[in-house]
Amino acid sequence: RNGQPDRIVVIGGGISGLSSAFYLLQEAEARGRKLAITIVDPGGRIGGKISTLHRDGFVIERGPDSFMARQKPIIDLAHDLGIAQELVGTNPAAKKTYIVHRGKLLPMPSGLVLSIPTEIGPFMKTGILSWRGKLRAMMDLVLPAQKLPEDESLSSFLSRRIGTEAMERITEPLLACIYAGDLRGLSVQATFPQFREAERKFGSLIRGLREGRSMTTVTAGDKDLLPFSAATDFLTFKGGLGTMVDALDRALAGVQRRLGTKVERIETAEEASAAGRGVEQADSGFPYKLALSNGETIGADGIVLTTPAYDAADLLETHVDTKPLRSVPYVSVANIAMAFDKKSLGVECNGSGFVSPRAEGTTITACTWTSAQWLHSSPEDKVLLQCYIGRTGDDAIVDLPDGQLTAEVKRDIRELMQITDEPIFTEITRLHRSMPQYPVGHIGHMKAFRAELEEKLPGIWVTGTAFDGVGLPACIRQSQEAAVHMIERLER
Ligand code: FAD
Repeated sequence: RNGQPDRIVVIGGGISGLSSAFYLLQEAEARGRKLAITIVDPGGRIGGKISTLHRDGFVIERGPDSFMARQKPIIDLAHDLGIAQELVGTNPAAKKTYIVHRGKLLPMPSGLVLSIPTEIGPFMKTGILSWRGKLRAMMDLVLPAQKLPEDESLSSFLSRRIGTEAMERITEPLLACIYAGDLRGLSVQATFPQFREAERKFGSLIRGLREGRSMTTVTAGDKDLLPFSAATDFLTFKGGLGTMVDALDRALAGVQRRLGTKVERIETAEEASAAGRGVEQADSGFPYKLALSNGETIGADGIVLTTPAYDAADLLETHVDTKPLRSVPYVSVANIAMAFDKKSLGVECNGSGFVSPRAEGTTITACTWTSAQWLHSSPEDKVLLQCYIGRTGDDAIVDLPDGQLTAEVKRDIRELMQITDEPIFTEITRLHRSMPQYPVGHIGHMKAFRAELEEKLPGIWVTGTAFDGVGLPACIRQSQEAAVHMIERLER
């Protein structure tokens, strides 16, 4: 359109939307193209799931709280945004993680890599498993590798390699921190491809993870990994993950925002005109029209759709088969942050926290001893705990009234940690339908879905947590790919 900049609408203002906009601008500049970007999000703020609360000297994360230190995409973004100097690692004195076993907190054996034992000595000494369970897990070292099916569930893979006892008592509760999921419903190929890679290359999961610590990633590609560093496994920013959102906000100062309103409909120009729905003069001549809930219509050359899969399905329903999107279930979770006075608490939190296997029947699925793990998160004389609630098959609990939820959490920490003190304050955050559960076959389904989308709606690209990795680094990596894809499409 006569030297006008290409107009891209980014649907969703979470890390995927913001980083997509950031990389779109970078990619366009590198290729000498001009872009006009608009970000739309129904929230009154940007950041999506990332939400850092500063209260009384505490830094409280209502959503994600950190990321794996080896993940290159997010480290690169921190450098690009000029905030790398704000990065902080976990407290090296608080490395120990505990697990609930028969109502008691037992230390996790050392040497777990992605929840899989790689050091035999400490594993054989743990009280978490029976002798039978330990020996069964060690059989992974001798059981022959199987001819792998295209994909299988994590539960089928892990029970085959290390047996059900180690899977249920150690692996599932640890992995629940990432997926809040039931391993029977999760695809091994889409969640931990490195597990299968270990079996394929080394004939054993344990040997593979021990030999190839370079494979420890929760995203699909080894290429995303920085060299292993003993300094820290996890990182965040001194001011919380909101630091990254604020920096993106500044970097995207020239980008238009429509906040507090959502995209209700995407139409091709032909559909819009056939339905007699015009647009403002300034918005005519674009291949796509987006109808917003505030009554506005925006024209676009390209659209980057970064919403959860179910919202993306609603928007694309009339154009493509959205079954692959609808087949990704989402689990609701909540977290309850509790602040205490260190002096009166009388309990020493000397580790990163604990996880609780399903069979223990606690309300809490995990508890992070945030003030011990992240020294910047609390005043020195205070303690901050973060308790997590909700997992597959048990997420209705998230909607209990505040008082009841708090009472259940307090009961758990009283029984498990002997905490009887009243918290100075409590912050409850509910995240409905927030944790995607990649089903078996997910990678293939999404590849086919993207191919159909590309054919029927060229210039619309779907990305984000529903597709290829649930963590922040994976979202950022996918945003880089989305930006390249979009600019290449505009250049065709
Ligand atoms: P979102 O942040 O969900 O953003 C999508 C946006 O789309 C939303 O803001 C929504 O309002 C908007 N939207 C929806 N429909 C429409 C519409 N019709 N029109 C316009 N906008 C729309 N990852 C880590 O790496 N480390 C962690 O410690 C970690 N902890 C987590 C803890 C919890 C409780 C949860 C839920 C996730 C955690 N994750 C963690 C994952 C991480 O938070 C997500 O991967 C990431 O924040 C997802 O970002 P996103 O932009 O893809 O999605």
